[in-house]
Amino acid sequence: MTGDGGPEARSATPRRALESALREGWRTALELSRAVGLPEREVAGHLEHLARSLKASGAKLEVTPARCLGCDFEFRERSRPKPPSRCPQCRGERITAPRFCVR
Ligand SMILES: [Zn+2]
Repeated sequence: MTGDGGPEARSATPRRALESALREGWRTALELSRAVGLPEREVAGHLEHLARSLKASGAKLEVTPARCLGCDFEFRERSRPKPPSRCPQCRGERITAPRFCVR
C-alpha cells in the first residue's frame, strides 16, 4: 500500500511549506525556493495554485511588484516571479524582485 498518493498528494507538502514561509513575511521567489527546496520556476506554479486555494480559506496572497531602484518605476503588469532585467523608463538594471506574502 505505497505510492498511491498521486501527483496532488505529492505537491501538497511543498505548497504547505510555501504557505508557512509566506505567512512569516514578504519573500521573493528565490527566497521561497531556498526555503522549501524547490527550483524557482516551480515556485511560480505553486504560487498560482496557492493563491487560488487561499481564496477559498479567506486568506490572500499579496504581491509587491518588481521595482526599479533607480527611478522607482513599478512593474505592475508583470505578475511573473522573475524580475525584468532592465527598466523601460531609466534603463537601470537594479531592479528588485517581486515579493509575496500571505495575509
Ligand atoms: Zn528605472
